[in-house]
Amino acid sequence: MSLYSAAAKTRDVLKNFIDRISMKDKHKYRICPECDFFCNVKEKYKFCPKCGTQLIEKCPSCGEAIDNPFSKFCGVCGEPYRTNNKKTDLKEIK
Ligand SMILES: [Zn+2]
Ligand SMILES: [Zn+2]
Repeated sequence: MSLYSAAAKTRDVLKNFIDRISMKDKHKYRICPECDFFCNVKEKYKFCPKCGTQLIEKCPSCGEAIDNPFSKFCGVCGEPYRTNNKKTDLKEIK
């Protein structure tokens, strides 16, 4: 194997590795429905360390993954992620 093809192979392996990480998990988050806490889905948290509420990692209405931790509403169906956004609508989610 020439030096050139070895280098090219290494580059391809590295690129695949980076693609795999970034496509899968990099832009997915869990957020707290009660406060402003969020973390990456790769982190261990299942409950909010600030208020103890179970974190959500997808839209409660349509199941779309949360790709922006600062979102207040689902970009796909428009439902609010956080319960304190729906003061006028107190019906339980399911
Ligand atoms: Zn919280
Ligand atoms: Zn949705």
